[in-house]
Amino acid sequence: MNNSEQITAASVVILGGGLTGISTALHLKKPWVLFEKEAGLGGLAVTRKKQGYFFDRTGHWLHLRDPGMQDMVACVLPGQMVEVERKARIFSHGATTLYPFQANLYGLPPDVIKECLLGVIEAKLAAPGGAELKNFEEYCLRHFGAGISKHFMIPYNERLWGVSPREITAAWCSRFVPLPKLEQVVAGAVGADAGALGYNATFSYPRHGGIQTFAATLAARLDPSRIRTSVSLDEVDYQRREVVVGGELLRYSALVSTLPLPELLRRMPGLPKAIESHASRLRCTTLRYLDLATRSRPTTDWHWAYVPEKRFPFYRVGIYSNAVASMAPPGCGSLYVELADRGAVNDSVVRESAQGLAEMGAIASADDVVFADAREIEYAYVVFDDNYYTATRAIFAFLESNAIYSRGRYGSWTYNAMEDALIAGRDVAATVDAIPEGVNS
Ligand SMILES: Cc1cc2nc3c(=O)[nH]c(=O)nc-3n(C[C@H](O)[C@H](O)[C@H](O)COP(=O)(O)OP(=O)(O)OC[C@H]3O[C@@H](n4cnc5c(N)ncnc54)[C@H](O)[C@@H]3O)c2cc1C
Repeated sequence: MNNSEQITAASVVILGGGLTGISTALHLKKPWVLFEKEAGLGGLAVTRKKQGYFFDRTGHWLHLRDPGMQDMVACVLPGQMVEVERKARIFSHGATTLYPFQANLYGLPPDVIKECLLGVIEAKLAAPGGAELKNFEEYCLRHFGAGISKHFMIPYNERLWGVSPREITAAWCSRFVPLPKLEQVVAGAVGADAGALGYNATFSYPRHGGIQTFAATLAARLDPSRIRTSVSLDEVDYQRREVVVGGELLRYSALVSTLPLPELLRRMPGLPKAIESHASRLRCTTLRYLDLATRSRPTTDWHWAYVPEKRFPFYRVGIYSNAVASMAPPGCGSLYVELADRGAVNDSVVRESAQGLAEMGAIASADDVVFADAREIEYAYVVFDDNYYTATRAIFAFLESNAIYSRGRYGSWTYNAMEDALIAGRDVAATVDAIPEGVNS
């Protein structure tokens, strides 16, 4: 069978070759074909190399909780991953404190600690229950009190999401925003051990080559004759169950799309008006960031830091080479700088970023920067606003009734991590494999 015969015979079409698409293909038993618009697979899990420095698409640290995924990674990449104990920090009020802010107030100015502690106590003393939480700002005030909300939660999240916390529902954060007990807040305020908190106390990372090594090693297990790169989806005819990709027409029994949901929907002519209207309300923010190289070693040992104060152009920075030294030439540093401003990056942003990093004690001086390249992730953060749940529920019900399974971080239109992408691929493969032959054809 030659390539095109194999592809024509495929019953499952996978759109997008990020981790979700790769995992779907790895787990599927039915014949499949995968289309990716870039020249290589990996999606967001790719690494750029320049002058001996390596840069991911900002920090891509792998947190594995699912035993099946832990086994798969150990089996596919034996000895290639290192386990790193997280060193995450917050920089505010001129002080570097431990992550998460809410359980590590020690080191902040005494009046800030007092304000934060009183706020937590007042919030804990307030009658439980109360009015329904309408948005993320109310969630912060209810759970962390006024001080922590003012000094970290609200300004940091506003900069991360690119929209006001009043526009975001509280529903997204249960796994990602650690909720310490009062004892932990007090312990962290006086410098006692508050215990490990949060979803990411350790992470795995490839010894060499950045996160792309991980994605590429998984992708190398796939049959290359079923993969087409540098081709973009043109159109989906959901009624005829056909796709046109790179000018080629294929029939499918099931379509697994990992494209950003609006990109899929805008390529589906003849959508019902209600679905079109829901689609028009989907919101997402773009991220601009810097790949930044230093000629000497960074002057700190942390892996990443959160920066809530508006006087800095960035809200989070990270140092790849502190996690794995091979990410930069010997004695040098490779960093990412995530910018709060969503507009174009100009020279003054780069200069202020370098100065800010020096002020935080991350790099020796602004003059130590070899280069700082502006980069962009168009679809970065889905906005969980009031329309979100109604719109996504209706859209996914419509798509699945037409044998279209939209999965992955942007296919499911959600906020999640690489492990979730792998799990989503595994699960959708099981769903599609379970459909009896002939049902959808
Ligand atoms: C700033 C940022 C930091 C992150 N940090 C971490 C972290 O530290 N740890 C962690 O675990 N996760 C992290 N993540 C999340 C992680 O990147 C995602 O969960 C995961 O990579 C999503 O994989 P995916 O396959 O669902 O999507 P993607 O990687 O976006 O893959 C979708 C694929 O579809 C392709 N495509 C798009 N349009 C078309 C088209 N028209 N035709 C054909 N193909 C197309 C794209 O090129 C891409 O390859 C981070 C995400 C962001 C944005």
